[in-house]
Amino acid sequence: MIIVLKAIATKEDIQSVVDEVRQCGYEPHVITGVARTVVAAVGDETTQQTLETLASLPVVENVLPIQKRYKLVSREAQAETTLVHAGRHCFGARDFHVIAGPCSVENLEQMLSVAESAKAAGATLLRGGAYKPRTSPYDFQGLGEEGLAILHEVKQRTGLPIVTEVVSESDLIPMLKIVDVFQIGARNMMNYSLLAALARTGKPVLLKRGLSATIEEWFLAAEYLAKQGNSQVILCERGIRTFECATRNTFDISAIAIAKQECNLPVIADPSHAAGRIDIISALSRAAIAAGADGLMIEVHPHPEKAASDGPQSLNPEQFSLLMQDILPVLSACGRRLSKPDNGTVKTDATNP
Ligand code: PEP
Ligand code: MN
Repeated sequence: MIIVLKAIATKEDIQSVVDEVRQCGYEPHVITGVARTVVAAVGDETTQQTLETLASLPVVENVLPIQKRYKLVSREAQAETTLVHAGRHCFGARDFHVIAGPCSVENLEQMLSVAESAKAAGATLLRGGAYKPRTSPYDFQGLGEEGLAILHEVKQRTGLPIVTEVVSESDLIPMLKIVDVFQIGARNMMNYSLLAALARTGKPVLLKRGLSATIEEWFLAAEYLAKQGNSQVILCERGIRTFECATRNTFDISAIAIAKQECNLPVIADPSHAAGRIDIISALSRAAIAAGADGLMIEVHPHPEKAASDGPQSLNPEQFSLLMQDILPVLSACGRRLSKPDNGTVKTDATNP
């Protein structure tokens, strides 16, 4: 930490700050400038008391961190990207992954049909919410455990690993048997007790950026998971709230580039929730790849006009197939390769051909 003193600080004031820094367990180094003095405090901020409280001293102008506030997930701590394993797929290496599926799980027929078409088009993981954190209490809230059973069935039949959102710690037990990647939605990015519960499961987490979260807050939410023993985290940019209303959210391309540069975690993009409309999803997807994304999450529904949630931003299977074609040249220009479906995990079930 750097403690900047006010210009009026006397020798006695400087000494009192130095004493305070030492008492907190840090080694103080006084740097005397022409106009003002700063005290550099050297020590491990992860194990020692924070010096931020010194900002309340009358002679202190500012207390500035030298290190990043997120440590475990930073590239400083680990230069290589953490490999996150989902089923037999691995995020963070050369392979690029597309997670596809509807916003909500509605019924078996819908999920099977979307899973099969998405898989045929090149998606390697299936999404679909059984628990839905809806803005309005009058909107469809998800099928809950019935939805989980549908996801389980579709996973058995197609071999696609499941990415689905968890909204409450109390749902974790039934979800554990089925889910390959737990999604933390934008509304729960700062639900630190839910993050702690997820960390204890050791399962991969897809951490969406909060609606109004800064990039640093997003990284710090990932740090909560890593600090509590779970570094299997994939960051997901899904657009943020701004004054713009041409799109549902504003897709923050910079966040992808910054996350790739500063953080050691894989990063994916969700252009569906960013755009809120289907006509620009391909363009946003290609931009995300160019910015360095390791994957995409795309909402696909067999009949978007009948979707229980997020129909206006859901691609139909044909549109999704076209999108998968659109991204190929950009993937190849960026040295990425679309991951191959994992047919090895498909279970053949005589009763469910
Ligand atoms: C979703 O993935 O359907 C969802 C609710 O996303 P978000 O949390 O980004 O709004
Ligand atoms: Mn949705």
